[in-house]
Amino acid sequence: MADVLLKEVRKSFGALEVIQGIDLAVEAGEFCVFVGPSGCGKSTLLRMIAGLEEVTAGAIEIAGKDVTYEEPSKRGIAMVFQSYALYPHLTVGENIGFGLSLARTPKAEIRSRVEAVAKVLQLEALLDRKPKALSGGQRQRVAIGRAIIRDPHVFLFDEPLSNLDAALRAQMRIELTDLHAKLGNTMIYVTHDQVEAMTMADRIVVLNGGRIEQVGTPMDLYDNPATPFVAGFIGSPK
Ligand code: ADP
Ligand code: MG
Repeated sequence: MADVLLKEVRKSFGALEVIQGIDLAVEAGEFCVFVGPSGCGKSTLLRMIAGLEEVTAGAIEIAGKDVTYEEPSKRGIAMVFQSYALYPHLTVGENIGFGLSLARTPKAEIRSRVEAVAKVLQLEALLDRKPKALSGGQRQRVAIGRAIIRDPHVFLFDEPLSNLDAALRAQMRIELTDLHAKLGNTMIYVTHDQVEAMTMADRIVVLNGGRIEQVGTPMDLYDNPATPFVAGFIGSPK
């Protein structure tokens, strides 16, 4: 069954239609990557799935439920952004558990859940550090930890690695793929980076000008690009 279903989703800002009718079914447990050039509508589409942006037309279902007009906190999603702000005065452990403290979860439960998340992300030794004593990659892992601890049904990532240097990006690509294998959640990952898309995705959605150019596995897209745009962006020249 589709876990995230987009039906004829559209978005206009004023007279400009930036998402021009997207139909897509993301399967449960899938690592689905939205890729396309800057300005093609990736973030807008992801923000509509998250409920941070209202759709102009169409409908969105998550886990079989129509969430088109549901508020973000009730959609069963967690989102990790490109620019993530950690609380500088809180430790790594407190940063990861912050959402649970807000929800008044008992302290002992917060501690055990923070420890479980830290183990998955290999942050166990760093729980008492402040963010300024962390590397860029470690900080990004803390930001991902804050999302994981909420145990979302679906993870949404918007270019989470684009502020990291090339070596760290390569390492984090592997870590995120491993994380997906461990957690098994549905993940939708937005990037403008073809290498990220090709190495991480179960399935790639190529966007261009607010429309889908092609949906397929990395091999499908590489071997059989459906349009010259896809060929130029990802596939081998035909
Ligand atoms: P991407 O994430 O692929 O780079 P975006 O979804 O951010 O693209 O933007 C798609 C288009 O929508 C761009 O032309 C952008 O300028 C426009 N846009 C995005 N957000 C707004 C907004 N709040 N108001 C007006 N235009 C916007
Ligand atoms: Mg964007």
